[in-house]
Amino acid sequence: MVVQARTLEFYGQYGFADEAIEQGVVAENAHVRRGGESGKSREILSISFKEMGAGLSPYPFALAYPQDDHERFLIKKLKDLGCEVQWKTKLTGFSEQEGGVSAQIERDTGRVEEAESEYICGCDGAHSCVRETLRIGFPGGTYEQLFYVADVKIARGFDRDLHINLGEHILALMFPVRSSGMQRLIGLVPPELSGGGSIDFEEIRGHVEPLFDIQVTQVNWFATYRVHHRVAEKFRVGRAFLAGDAAHIHSPVGGQGMNTGIGDAVNLGWKLAQVLQGRAGNSILDTYEPERIGFARSLVATTDRAFTAMVGESLTGEFTRRILAPLVFGVATRFSLGRHAIFRTISQTRIHYPDSSLSEGAAGDVHGGDRLPWTAAPAADNFRPLRSLDWQAHVYGEIDKEFEAGCSKLGLALQAFAWSESAKHAGLRQDALYLVRPDGYVALASVEQSVSKLRGFVERFQLRFKEPAAQTRLKNESTGEET
Ligand SMILES: Cc1cc2nc3c(=O)[nH]c(=O)nc-3n(C[C@H](O)[C@H](O)[C@H](O)COP(=O)(O)OP(=O)(O)OC[C@H]3O[C@@H](n4cnc5c(N)ncnc54)[C@H](O)[C@@H]3O)c2cc1C
Repeated sequence: MVVQARTLEFYGQYGFADEAIEQGVVAENAHVRRGGESGKSREILSISFKEMGAGLSPYPFALAYPQDDHERFLIKKLKDLGCEVQWKTKLTGFSEQEGGVSAQIERDTGRVEEAESEYICGCDGAHSCVRETLRIGFPGGTYEQLFYVADVKIARGFDRDLHINLGEHILALMFPVRSSGMQRLIGLVPPELSGGGSIDFEEIRGHVEPLFDIQVTQVNWFATYRVHHRVAEKFRVGRAFLAGDAAHIHSPVGGQGMNTGIGDAVNLGWKLAQVLQGRAGNSILDTYEPERIGFARSLVATTDRAFTAMVGESLTGEFTRRILAPLVFGVATRFSLGRHAIFRTISQTRIHYPDSSLSEGAAGDVHGGDRLPWTAAPAADNFRPLRSLDWQAHVYGEIDKEFEAGCSKLGLALQAFAWSESAKHAGLRQDALYLVRPDGYVALASVEQSVSKLRGFVERFQLRFKEPAAQTRLKNESTGEET
């Protein structure tokens, strides 16, 4: 349901963030409630996403966009690029051959075909055929708690905010679903109903309604499911890669799973494209697994700890739920540092790759491997040039002539921005060099605009740049000056 700011930043690079936002619901506030087990619940905390993410991202909110609508949206974007998804077509196995992959594809007619490709990526969900063919372990476990999901209409009308209720055996969320004008409810089935056979909404109505102080007038969809927490032992074997739920699954608490899968795809996508186009050496593909598996492991461990603490029956669980979580959240959101820390974590804008072989150096507070920090208006928007989806050098301040000539010789696009308060606030350093990857992460950061460092990096990864378009001229909105 929840599309995080980092995913929208990627969509901004592809040029369709605004369209996605238009189709979902921008949830600007979250409300935390407590109680409702016997009688009414009450709101204990209200949080403004806008305040939490102000100045950190062009998208300081959570977008509620149901996955089925979201998938149709992305499939249409693929189609516009001339790529047709082949439905009712199943991968049944594959093997790596010299210089490529040979896969067996079964059509819905029962016909089996051989398909040849240079690489294969298993984005085929938790029961991944690619992962199983490679015999990659998927260690972890399954939570005993049963979850429910429902799309419902409520008597008080469409509610555009996010709501969460935490209590003993209670973990429940309510989101808006624009396409149906309904609310989506997700939560834990009470333990007395979770052991036996199938249940319907009527059996849990009396439990759910008081949690959000709602009256459900219509139920469109109801299902129950169990949640797993697992991370694949490897994300790559030879010419085969894993991404998304094929590589990691965890509790939906925090709305991270799909966003992490999209992050995997973005990370792998540009690397594969550059290798296939002969614009980067094969070694760039070696950086996919270390960059993404580290984040997946820490995410699964964190969501596991949070989930266990929130729903656990122990005294510690009770303490975390009733006292610690609201207290920490309440205090943290009162201070801007705390608000920013929470936003960075939830929105995935904190994800960085400090240990990657693609990450080098530091300048100001920005290190190789960090997401390029956003320089908010009124300075020039430094995310705009990222739409080229290509390597680029950024300088915030004065450009050194020798460096400019070096970039030109390498065919590397050079983006110059006037030094601004906003750049300083973002942690960038005046006149430093930032070599930015096609996915908006800083690869090389250097205090000096060093052509030799740049050349060394380019040679190490055998990078070849596209001819840069005429250098972008950006206007500083406060001074009107062009750079
Ligand atoms: C109730 C609930 C709420 C959630 N809320 C959020 C949220 O708010 N935010 C968030 O980020 N995440 C959320 N998640 C997690 C999110 O739904 C998953 O992480 C996401 O769907 C994973 O996408 P995927 O493409 O990797 O895998 P899947 O969605 O499982 O897609 C895999 C695809 O591969 C196809 N496939 C499988 N095997 C084969 C084969 N052999 N050949 C060909 N095709 C095959 C399948 O048909 C399917 O289309 C939630 C999950 C649940 C259950």
